[in-house]
Amino acid sequence: MESESASLNNNKHKKVVIIGAGPAGLTAAYELSKEGLRSVVLEKDSVVGGISRTVNYKGYRFDIGGHRFFTKVRVVEDMWEEIMGDDFLERKRLSRIYYKNTFFYYPFRLPNALWGLGIGNSIMIVLSYIKSQLFPFKPEDTFDKWVSNRFGKRLYGLFFKTYTEKVWGIPCEEISAEWAAQRIKGLSLLEALKNALIQERPSNKDRVVKTLIDSFHYPRLGPGMMWEKVSDTVTSENSEVILNADVEIIYTGSGKVDKIDVLVEGKIQEIEGSEFISSMPIRELIQKLEPKPPKEVSHAADMLKYRDFLTVSLIINKKDVFPDNWIYIHDPRVKMGRIQNFKNWSPDMVPDQEKTCLGLEYFCFEGDGLWTMSDRDLINLARKELEIMGLVDAREIEDGSVVRMPKAYPVYDSTYLDAVNIIRDFLSQFRNLQLVGRNGMHKYNNQDHSMLTAMLAVKNILGGNYDLWKVNADQEYHEEVLGDKSIEPKDYKELSKTQPLVPVAVAQGEGGVEQTIISVFAGIDKLALALSVGAVSGGAIFIATILLILKGGSVVGPNLLLLNQYFIGYSVSIEGAFIGLGYSFLWGFIFGWLFAYLRNLLTGFYVYRVKKSAELSSFRDFIDYI
Ligand SMILES: Cc1cc2nc3c(=O)[nH]c(=O)nc-3n(C[C@H](O)[C@H](O)[C@H](O)COP(=O)(O)OP(=O)(O)OC[C@H]3O[C@@H](n4cnc5c(N)ncnc54)[C@H](O)[C@@H]3O)c2cc1C
Repeated sequence: MESESASLNNNKHKKVVIIGAGPAGLTAAYELSKEGLRSVVLEKDSVVGGISRTVNYKGYRFDIGGHRFFTKVRVVEDMWEEIMGDDFLERKRLSRIYYKNTFFYYPFRLPNALWGLGIGNSIMIVLSYIKSQLFPFKPEDTFDKWVSNRFGKRLYGLFFKTYTEKVWGIPCEEISAEWAAQRIKGLSLLEALKNALIQERPSNKDRVVKTLIDSFHYPRLGPGMMWEKVSDTVTSENSEVILNADVEIIYTGSGKVDKIDVLVEGKIQEIEGSEFISSMPIRELIQKLEPKPPKEVSHAADMLKYRDFLTVSLIINKKDVFPDNWIYIHDPRVKMGRIQNFKNWSPDMVPDQEKTCLGLEYFCFEGDGLWTMSDRDLINLARKELEIMGLVDAREIEDGSVVRMPKAYPVYDSTYLDAVNIIRDFLSQFRNLQLVGRNGMHKYNNQDHSMLTAMLAVKNILGGNYDLWKVNADQEYHEEVLGDKSIEPKDYKELSKTQPLVPVAVAQGEGGVEQTIISVFAGIDKLALALSVGAVSGGAIFIATILLILKGGSVVGPNLLLLNQYFIGYSVSIEGAFIGLGYSFLWGFIFGWLFAYLRNLLTGFYVYRVKKSAELSSFRDFIDYI
């Protein structure tokens, strides 16, 4: 009891400095203030929310790419609800793909897809799918092969190639297959079998997954509303959020982070703290260390790459433009990748219900042609592209604005993982520095996982021992330890108290249901079963014959003798016992072998079917993850 209150007092003296007022940084500040700890959040921009901000242009609000709030992590969902209360709207999702002047519902709906593609095309897609199942690309080392092996080459060409290349700016043949596999973590085969066999679990889990795809939550005034509220809450509780505060130098002279120099309104301020949490891009963090890190660490940081992003928002003098929340633009004739209709996210995103605010999204690299284009030219480009697609009459476009977002996407190329590992290794010497968030850890995370890393960082400051790098990399780590929706909050508390570093699934796996499933579905050794059945049946006939001989009588073993109709030469005699043994062994052997063969074939077919249907269900919203 005494040591508990001593550690509480110790914590109270901590001052935590947080870099970045995006979802990760602000979540850390929020969790700390709940524990009564003071923090100071340094944000280089003039607004909070990071990539999850909402921009307000003449009362028309728009996101940096529409931000859905959906998660499997209960503690994150709890925090969202706690902050937003009644302003947390539940919205139905409607999104389509625009391709060759046709709209396809996404996730796909069969009748609509067949109608849009036409019979001939649909047949070719099915044939190409069958071909990919029979003769998959090997080795499966690039994105195009990975997708073709799962959807067929034709569907890949129609629906995945153009959009993926727009988002990432490189040909699919140069994107590693590993990237796709990381982004789309389906169920493991074992999990899929468990779901298929245990009736209650699949319905529950499937429902959760289906709901996550078909609807989502959204703050009434966009994601920025959430982060503005969090910022207000923490500042009202003795913490600070300093805007326009650009972190310039991070001093680590004493083997830990000592202080930070921040540029605020043209002046350098020194910020001291006992604990530091950073959500700024890793590359910049390394560049700002003082003393400078070893060459290989700086080189690793320079190897990290980003994809940048800009939104052109247009105000349209029309009440209803299209019913979707967003549309994926797969049409190669235009540069835009996606288009959002913010009024359909929340009616309050526009001040005048007779008008519409569209967000046209362009993926680019900082400094390239799109990025450097003037705002006026970008608005004209957007106007032209909308006309090409026939979505809007250019005369209805009243006004527009442009927001550029550097480092919107951390790039997963062939070198990033080694680079991140070198940096992690180096930074681990600074015990009072924790990296969190999306660019803060160079992880392609949504808000929920960015927030989760911040929550765990706070737990570590309070004495926990959580490995933040396991979030997202190990699905079970947060799904099962940190609050799958199927786990009640009280279980979460119990689990996190007792097993901070042990994923529950691993512990349960040994000797549990998983073990039983592995044994049930393991293949039967054909030769072993054939020999055993042969030996048992041969032995049985041999012993039965000998017993009947010993029993004797006027006619010895008349019933068993009937076997000689099948076993030519068999008689109830010593010689017959050996002949019977031979025949029975042979038939038993054949029966055992065939049984094992058929059983393996049927089980294999069942496992294949379960695997395919689990794969298909986890690929339902594949494009959302590109
Ligand atoms: C187009 C697009 C669509 C998305 N859609 C969704 C979605 O539907 N749902 C979802 O949950 N997520 C979505 N995301 C992801 C989401 O935006 C991120 O996961 C989230 O914003 C990451 O939060 P963060 O705090 O880690 O990083 P950020 O949001 O990047 O915040 C980091 C902050 O650090 C600040 N900073 C950087 N350098 C410094 C410095 N030197 N000094 C001080 N401050 C600094 C930045 O200004 C920024 O405010 C989307 C992202 C994009 C690009």
